[in-house]
Order: sequence, then structure tokens, then C-alpha cells
Amino acid sequence: MQQTKEPSFRESVDLMFNRAAKLMDLSPGLEQKIRVCNSTYTVRFGVRLRGKIETFTGYRSVHSEHMEPVKGGIRYALSVHQDEVEALAALMTYKCALVETPFGGSKGGLCIDPRQWDEHELEQITRRFAYELIKRDLIHPAQNVPAPDMGTGEREMAWIADQYARMNTTDINAKACVTGKPPHAGGIQGRVEATGRGVQYALREFFRHKEDMARAGLTGGLDGKRVIVQGLGNVGYHAAKFLSEEDGCKVIAVIERDGALLDPKGLNIEDVRQWMNRHGGLAGYPNATHVADGAPVLEEACDILIPAAMEGVINLGNAERIRAPLIVEAANGPVTFGADEILRRKGCVIIPDMYANAGGVTVSYFEWVKNLSHIRFGRMQRRAEEARSRLLVEELERLSADKGLGWTLAEDFKERFLTGSDELALVRSGLDDTMRTAYQAMREVWHSRQDVEDLRVAAYIVSIGRVAQTYRSKGL
Ligand code: NAD
Repeated sequence: MQQTKEPSFRESVDLMFNRAAKLMDLSPGLEQKIRVCNSTYTVRFGVRLRGKIETFTGYRSVHSEHMEPVKGGIRYALSVHQDEVEALAALMTYKCALVETPFGGSKGGLCIDPRQWDEHELEQITRRFAYELIKRDLIHPAQNVPAPDMGTGEREMAWIADQYARMNTTDINAKACVTGKPPHAGGIQGRVEATGRGVQYALREFFRHKEDMARAGLTGGLDGKRVIVQGLGNVGYHAAKFLSEEDGCKVIAVIERDGALLDPKGLNIEDVRQWMNRHGGLAGYPNATHVADGAPVLEEACDILIPAAMEGVINLGNAERIRAPLIVEAANGPVTFGADEILRRKGCVIIPDMYANAGGVTVSYFEWVKNLSHIRFGRMQRRAEEARSRLLVEELERLSADKGLGWTLAEDFKERFLTGSDELALVRSGLDDTMRTAYQAMREVWHSRQDVEDLRVAAYIVSIGRVAQTYRSKGL
């Protein structure tokens, strides 16, 4: 159970920031300028639903405008409050700097349980919330570009984009006002899976470095590693699916709101998710053991723990009992400041949220660029690429025939070599490159400085350094 001594989510983020800033040589006042949240707009609006006016409270927080537009998701949950939105906005600033997406940090939230409203009602509520934010340029292609977060997805982003277009009928860049839209409404291939895919690429990169694995006491590759995932929503589902289907990981437990499923042989994630979609939870799933109390399952022995649900789940109340040697923070802020200290002392390696879940904002950046350039990635070069590859294959086959060499190229090689990169392939390549490059920037700091104990401080040092550089070049 969470103890009362625990700082709030925003305080926790600030304390983590301070740990890193202390090790940096920032000019007086700059540290505070970077840390504080620039502004938070609170709106209370009414929507006529079920015969009466329902009042909703929403927030849009702008943490840092050192680069514009600012970027960050919109969360729908009853637990949304100002402190949380500001913490998440701050993490967006650091995340964008770490993965070099040219944005400042922002975040939004609406206090609502989306499961209590039907689709039409949710559309009315979303459009009204969007209207309030658009009116104040808190949704705008050049100033503030939201994206999905907990409780929202493609559908909500499509409504927001349409609302913006209705209110800005001559803005040719209207579609770039929000990312995470469905592909038919200006979205990009690979955005829905992007955050989970990024978690997979982050782990692959971690496992390329024996020295880093040794810090967690891990050996070998991802194949056969026992994984526990909390939250089988957008991020957790995709991460668990890709790691189990493509990298040979065994997902031995999945934790959801209504308990956990356990299977030491590894769960079939697609099957579990289908069950969840049909039944609204994990209970009753026939092919694994179900326990009603999910939280203690975080403490089960495993190789990799992936909290992918919400903040504060690993806290002073359970950190001591966590047995995973490696934690990948797929959710934002799942480990509190106090828990982080305990885990570090125990030798647990944490791949921090600002890096681990940056796949979403990375692909959002690609979507925004696509919207501004008004053309699908790969449209110009794909067939030209294929034609060049074909030339090479035909020339090799001609040479082989002419010289009687008897070479034949394997059919699957030919097929793969002759397929030009479409949008999805380019998005995955860009995401992979981003996750590798950002990891290397972090580990360089981690390994080159005696005073840097962990990846989180390293990540903060890289991002704060980049934000500071932008401020300096602005003359601040
Ligand atoms: P989501 O709403 O799709 O999924 C969250 C899942 O967690 C749901 O299945 C929910 O039932 C489950 N859950 C909620 N409370 C739980 C609890 N106490 N115990 C166990 N399970 C619980 O949300 P998401 O988009 O997957 O976001 C999850 C986390 O990832 C959040 O912290 C979010 O900020 C972060 N994140 C999301 C994205 C993105 O692109 N969606 C990007 C970066 C970070």
C-alpha cells in the first residue's frame, strides 16, 4: 500500500530532476526555469447529457515552451488532477529532448471515467473539451499538439482533429493539430503500436550491451526471459505481444484492474487481450491461473518487470519486495522517488519512463511532419527503390547465366530485397534509430561519469543539457 510519506507525482518528478541537476553546471536560475511548469489551464464545462447538464473538469498544462509546438497526450481518467497533469507535462519536456523531437512539453487530462459514457456521449464531451482548448490555442498545429494517453485513442484524436478543422476552416495544416489519429483521418501507419514497439526496441538495445545487462545481473538475450506486465492497454498489450511473439520472451503474468493471470510457461497475449475485449477483464480466462489481487504479482520473481498502467504503483510500500532485476517503465512515473532509491540500492536497473515510453511521441512527430508535408512517407521513393533493386537482381542473374555460374538467389531474399520501404517500414526504421540513439546518449553519460549511478539520472542529464542549450541559444 502507498504510504503517506510519499511525495506527489509532480514532486517525485522534481526530486528526480534535482538529483540530476545537482550534478550539472547550470547557470544561476536556469535550473529553476527548466523545472517549473509554465502554465496550467483548468476548464469546467457543461454538456447536456441524459436530460441534464453534466459538468466536467479538464486541464491542459504547458511545462516548457523552449520549443514549439508543445506536445503531450490527453488522459481520460477519474484520477486526473492538476498535480498529475503537471508531472506528466514535465516528463514530456524531458522525453522530447531525450529523443530529439522538436517539441516542448505539455499534457492534458479530463476527469472522467470513459466507461460510464457511450460513444456518442463521449464524442460530445470530447468535442466540447477540444472546443475549449482550441479557443485558447491550447490545441494548434504550431503551438500545442495533443496525442492519446490513458483512456483515449485514435477515435478521440479523430474527433479533436475534426473539431479543430470545423473551427479553422482555412488552416491548410489543420490535421497537424493532434497526433495519434486513425490512418484514414490523417494518421500514420504504426502509431497505435508505437509506444509498445518502442518498449521492445528499448529492450533490444539494452540487451545489445553486455556491460549494462551485467549491472542487472542478466545474461544471454531476450529469448526465454520471464516478463511480468502490468496493464494490458495500448502500451502494455503491444509491448507484451511483440516481446513474446517476436523476441521469444515468456510473459509469465499480466496484471489488470481485476487481478492477474499467471502462467509460468508464458501467456498467449493475443488470446488474453481478445478475452479482455469480450469480457471487460481477465477474470474467467480459461487458460491460466487467475488471482483477484493483482498488485502483489508485481513482486513475483521474473527477469523483466514492465509496469504499463499508471504512476506510483512501485512505491515505498512494495519496493523492498520487488524481485525483478530489470524494470522497464512503460507507464509514466510507475516508480516513485522513494522506491527508486530503494531499488537502486538493491541493484535493480530501471530503464526510465522518459526513454522507455518515448516511442509514442517519436511516431507522433513523424505523423506531425507527414501532416505538414501533406504526403505519405515513401510515396515518392518506394517504387524507385524497387526499380534499383530489381536492376541489381537482374544483373546478377544475367551474369550468373552468362558465365554459367549457376547462382540462384533465394526466393525469400529476392522478395525482401525487391520490396521498397512503405510508410510502416519507414516509421519502424525511424523509431528503431531513435530508440538506439537515445539509449546510447544515456549510457554514454551513465558509464563515463563516476557520479552517475543509474540510467534515470543519465537520461535527465542528457535532456536537461539539451533544454539548457536551447535556452542559451535564445539568449536566456
Ligand atoms: P490504456 O488506457 O490504453 O491502458 C491502461 C491499462 O491499464 C488498461 O488496460 C487498464 O485497465 C489498466 N489499468 C489501469 N489501472 C490499473 C491498475 N491499477 N492495475 C492494473 N492495471 C490497470 O493506457 P495506455 O495508453 O496504454 O497508457 C498506459 C501508460 O503508458 C500511462 O502511464 C501513459 O501515460 C503511458 N504512455 C502512453 C502512451 C501512448 O501512446 N498511449 C505513450 C507514452 C506513455
